[in-house]
Amino acid sequence: MKTVPSKYTAYQGFDVLFHNTEVMISTGLNLLSEAIALSAIENVAAYLSRAVRDGSDMEAREHIAYASTVAGITMNLTLTTAEHSMEHSMSAYHHNLPHGAGLIMISKEFYQFFVDKHVCDERFIKMAKTMGIKNADKPEDFITALVELQKACGVDNLKMSEYGFEKDEAMTLARGARSMQGLLYTSNPCEMTDEDVVGIFEKSYH
Ligand SMILES: [Zn+2]
Repeated sequence: MKTVPSKYTAYQGFDVLFHNTEVMISTGLNLLSEAIALSAIENVAAYLSRAVRDGSDMEAREHIAYASTVAGITMNLTLTTAEHSMEHSMSAYHHNLPHGAGLIMISKEFYQFFVDKHVCDERFIKMAKTMGIKNADKPEDFITALVELQKACGVDNLKMSEYGFEKDEAMTLARGARSMQGLLYTSNPCEMTDEDVVGIFEKSYH
């Protein structure tokens, strides 16, 4: 792990985060998958920026490795959501895009979609508290915690345009996401149409 470059530590550290945050908003969440996911989220939020800053910080590396490992368990108890379908479509059409970087690019708008629909407010508040906003009392607090962690890890400004994306390919990406991994849409806390997915891609586009 010590030789993994800083930016890949950040990208895949966020992949770890999203495996767990997707489980947390899933229709299939259960007592065990929630306990595991919250523990993993707590560790990523507390240690990822340290691992990104200094790859030889073995205490930070250990906590991220723990979160990554238990994410593998909780993902087998509860399906992840369409955020992963959407990113797999992005990397399928643009092979130079690392998985974690693609997830980071769409994450704010993906979660904002469900925040605006108020379909799992309490779960967002729980995650925000776990990520360090102790007095969190509204679902938007999760978005705040997510963006703060992106800033702390230097990945708050990744651009789809730098990987060759055009804004008008959003529907191609949306159709690709559903045809490749439509099953994950059943895990979303409410319906998400291809038009909704296009909206998320377009708002994420820079
Ligand atoms: Zn992933």
